[in-house]
Amino acid sequence: MAVETTLAATKGNLLNFAFVDENTKREIRRKLLKAVAIPGYQVPFASRELPIARGWGTGGLQITMAIIGPDDILKVIDQGCDGVVNAVNLRNLLVKTTGVATTYRTEEATIIQTRHRIPEKALRNDQILVLQVPYPEPLRRVEPSEQVTRQMHGENDYSLAWLDLYERVVRWGEITIGSQYPVLVNGRYIMSPSPIPRWDLPKLNMAETLFLFGAGREKRIYALPPYTSVKPLEFEDYRFRVEDFSGKCCHRCGSTKSYLDETYNAAGGERFYTCSDSDFCDERLRNGKGKGSADA
Ligand SMILES: [Zn+2]
Repeated sequence: MAVETTLAATKGNLLNFAFVDENTKREIRRKLLKAVAIPGYQVPFASRELPIARGWGTGGLQITMAIIGPDDILKVIDQGCDGVVNAVNLRNLLVKTTGVATTYRTEEATIIQTRHRIPEKALRNDQILVLQVPYPEPLRRVEPSEQVTRQMHGENDYSLAWLDLYERVVRWGEITIGSQYPVLVNGRYIMSPSPIPRWDLPKLNMAETLFLFGAGREKRIYALPPYTSVKPLEFEDYRFRVEDFSGKCCHRCGSTKSYLDETYNAAGGERFYTCSDSDFCDERLRNGKGKGSADA
């Protein structure tokens, strides 16, 4: 993590480098070190006000601001896309206050800030993925009290989380959790992977990359260091499974191996599927892949 104490390099800009003051960065870095040392454990931190509303990514933004240096190459995505309004505005704020280079290409980025997705392309050990987290507490759906959930984590008492899974199986015949699917980290803490689809969970297990999670409104930071065991909760007879896109493909690049977004054309009554990861899709088009190509 680079340490930068000068004012922003951008001319005439009297903001701190990466907007927040140095004491705040130091506080966040200390909490990040603790989070890395105890994988999956939620570390409270002094979340700051930023020029965006809480709930719009301030947790991830503060982590990025605390670790970014002038030589970093930044990629910001929302729902897998670089071009949507939330990603564009967060990127603009970071560029304005740091002057760093940005990219849309996953492999070129040193820091990737994201909401709702992990890129399709495998990440490397020289890259850091920063996730924006709205609800960091995986036990919140079974226990409303913060005091009690912290005690449950401390005592390794996850019986209510397992009971919740069991009740879903009894009621619906399967584990009906879409996003925020709870995972067991390093054999110890149950963690919310943030609202990423189940499709992305296998990418967290024993990954080469450092994953950092920030929840600004809830004032929590947690982390997955490289090569950490991350197991989705499941029963022997009711297994975790990713979303099923069999029989569907991206209408732009023809991919059948990526997470697909569904679009419904009300006028024609047709459904289209598109890669959620826009860089993955664009690269396939640049390489001549398209609908009907041989290795869709
Ligand atoms: Zn595609």
